[in-house]
Amino acid sequence: MKETRGVFWFMNNRVPPNKRYQPTEYEHAANCATHALWIIPSLLGSSVLHFQSEDQWERLSAWVYGAGLSSLFIISTLFHTVAWKKSHLRSVEHCFHMCDRMVIYFFIAASYAPWLNLRELGPWGCHMRWLVWVMASFGTTYVFFFHERYKITELICYTVMGVFPALVILSMPEQSGLCELLVGGACYCLGMVFFKSDGIVPFAHAIWHLFVAMGASVHYYAIWKYLYAQPPNQVQTSR
Ligand SMILES: [Zn+2]
Repeated sequence: MKETRGVFWFMNNRVPPNKRYQPTEYEHAANCATHALWIIPSLLGSSVLHFQSEDQWERLSAWVYGAGLSSLFIISTLFHTVAWKKSHLRSVEHCFHMCDRMVIYFFIAASYAPWLNLRELGPWGCHMRWLVWVMASFGTTYVFFFHERYKITELICYTVMGVFPALVILSMPEQSGLCELLVGGACYCLGMVFFKSDGIVPFAHAIWHLFVAMGASVHYYAIWKYLYAQPPNQVQTSR
C-alpha cells in the first residue's frame, strides 16, 4: 500500500494502535543518529567507573551498569539501522525490534544496580538487589511471547519496572544523589509522551531517544559523583 504523507513532509500519517508507524527517511536517520551518538560516550563512561572502582563490588556494579547502558544504545542503533535499511528482511527486523524492547528492562535493572549494591538501603534494599533482575527477566519473557500485542500492558510493565525499585531508593538513609535520580526519572517520563506521539509530532521517536539519553546522562552523573568519585563510608557494612 502506498504511504500517505501527513501535513509535514518529514512525518507520515498516524497509524491505528495495532499497526506500526512507518517513519520517513529523515525520521529513520534521526532515530539512528540520536542513539548512535551515545555509544562511544557510554563505553567511555563505563570504563571511567571501572577504573575508579576500589573493590570488587564497585567493579562488578560498574560492569553491570556499563553493560546495560552501552547495550541500550548499541542495540537501539542496530535495530533502527535494520528498520531503515533492511526492513524487507521481516524476521531479522522483528528479532532486532524484540531485542530493542528487551534491552530496556535490563537497562532499567542495570541503572538501579549501583545504588542497590553500593548504598546502605535497609532490609528491603537487599531483596530489591535480586528482585530487579527477576522483574527484568519477566519483562523479557513477556516481550518474547507478546511483543507488540498489548501496547498499553507493555507501557505499564516499563513504568512498574522503572518506578518500583525507586521506592526503595527513596527510603535510603543517605540521600545524596536523590535529586539527580528524580530529574533523570522525570526525563524518562516526559520522553514517554513522545514515545506515544508517532505521526502526531514530527521526529517523535528521535525526541524520545534524546529524552532517554538525557535521563541516562543525569543518572550516570549521579552514579559517578555519589558512588564512585566520593563513595560513602557506610556502604562497607551492607555488602
Ligand atoms: Zn528507538
